Amino acid sequence: MLLLRLFLIVLLAYGLLGSCSRRPEKEQKEGLTEYASNIDTLPHDWPVPASIPTKYLLGKYEPSQDSLFVKVEPPYGQDNGLGYLHKETYEAFKRMHEAAKSDGISLVIKSPTRNFYRQKEIWEAKWNGSRKVEGQNLSKSVPDPVQRALVILRYSSMPGTSRHHWGTDIDLNAFENDYFKSGQGLKEYNWLQAHAHEYGFCQPYTPKGPERPDGYEEERWHWSYLPLSRPYLEAYSLSITHDSIRGFAGAETAARIDVISKYVMGINPACK
Ligand SMILES: [Zn+2]
Repeated sequence: MLLLRLFLIVLLAYGLLGSCSRRPEKEQKEGLTEYASNIDTLPHDWPVPASIPTKYLLGKYEPSQDSLFVKVEPPYGQDNGLGYLHKETYEAFKRMHEAAKSDGISLVIKSPTRNFYRQKEIWEAKWNGSRKVEGQNLSKSVPDPVQRALVILRYSSMPGTSRHHWGTDIDLNAFENDYFKSGQGLKEYNWLQAHAHEYGFCQPYTPKGPERPDGYEEERWHWSYLPLSRPYLEAYSLSITHDSIRGFAGAETAARIDVISKYVMGINPACK
């Protein structure tokens, strides 16, 4: 009887110690389980935010020359989607693509990584009017720099502030919210809402409202691979200031708009 009691005490103590020693690991993954129920498919080592070089945060590198990045191939990407992604994002996307396919859903990358220099081309074309925005030459119709930047920011990021710089974020299937509101597009969006988290993906640009008062408009096509993008966002908040956002026409508006807290941080709280 005494032996049995001793045995039970030892067993209880072992159980308590065991659960204590496992705790840090559990806490480490707690955030992840909110988004990803299928943990085994995700990398277990998240990058330490302080170790992420600034060049990746600002997009000032060339993904085709960087071993962290791989080329997106058909059938995973199409058209402009045949660029580069961080290799972990690509592996996770391929798993999600296959799972969706077996449910009769086609997910295709239409835009992967865009570095600073590409974003600068897009931004400056809109800034100087060589590319029209809502049918207008903004350099003529909106002379005030802050107002002009705000118009461009309705759908395009300022260079140095785009999540597409990181190789963690992708645009899928179609660049129109309406596409995802009926027919096949709605089926795809419903599938993503139900399952994307199982593969580590989250929609950062949900409809604006009390939960997300600032930032870009809703983008049903834009999905982010959280095991990478969450530490990238944290690193961004630690090391990037408005002084870091420079080197393009209209850069002086960044601080006046408070583009970091309003746009970079203005995402779906579930993706933070
Ligand atoms: Zn996007």
